[in-house]
Amino acid sequence: MSTPIINKRVSILRDDVACAKQLNARNVRVLNTGSDRGHGVFASRDFLPGEIVIIGLIDRMVRNRTTNSFQMDWNVHALFQKPAVIVNHSCHPKLAIVPNRFGAYDFVAIEQISSGVEVTWDYATSEFECVGVSVCLCSSDNCRGEAAGFSKLPRDHPMIVSGFCAPYLTKFAKG
Ligand SMILES: [Zn+2]
Repeated sequence: MSTPIINKRVSILRDDVACAKQLNARNVRVLNTGSDRGHGVFASRDFLPGEIVIIGLIDRMVRNRTTNSFQMDWNVHALFQKPAVIVNHSCHPKLAIVPNRFGAYDFVAIEQISSGVEVTWDYATSEFECVGVSVCLCSSDNCRGEAAGFSKLPRDHPMIVSGFCAPYLTKFAKG
């Protein structure tokens, strides 16, 4: 007797998740930043622009935004598994978010990344508003100073112009 189709689908998805976890473990590692920012995610190899650095996997959905959640849509927030949940914010990020087949975001290199460098994403590319920290600790050249969400970004910001934002925000910016 053949395996029911639904069971096949479930087992393929399970393999897929295991594969994603393996890729993440090969691509990055979680280390202490040695600063106020606590732990961060660091590249374990070199990456070219366009390469997926971290595959996001949902841990669970949450009703309200938390300091660690990712906004997927209006009123839709998710906690991601490690290492994605550990990725720190930077106003000059190395990663952009792209929706993936797990209903989470992949984190894609938007510039060349060398092994050993901390990889960061811009909080405002997924979060419409910001909760928790009020001052940005990223210390990049173009730091916006305050930790704020998409609602405070100028509409000509490079991350918006390049389309490196959550789809619901890109649609909002165009509308
Ligand atoms: Zn900053």
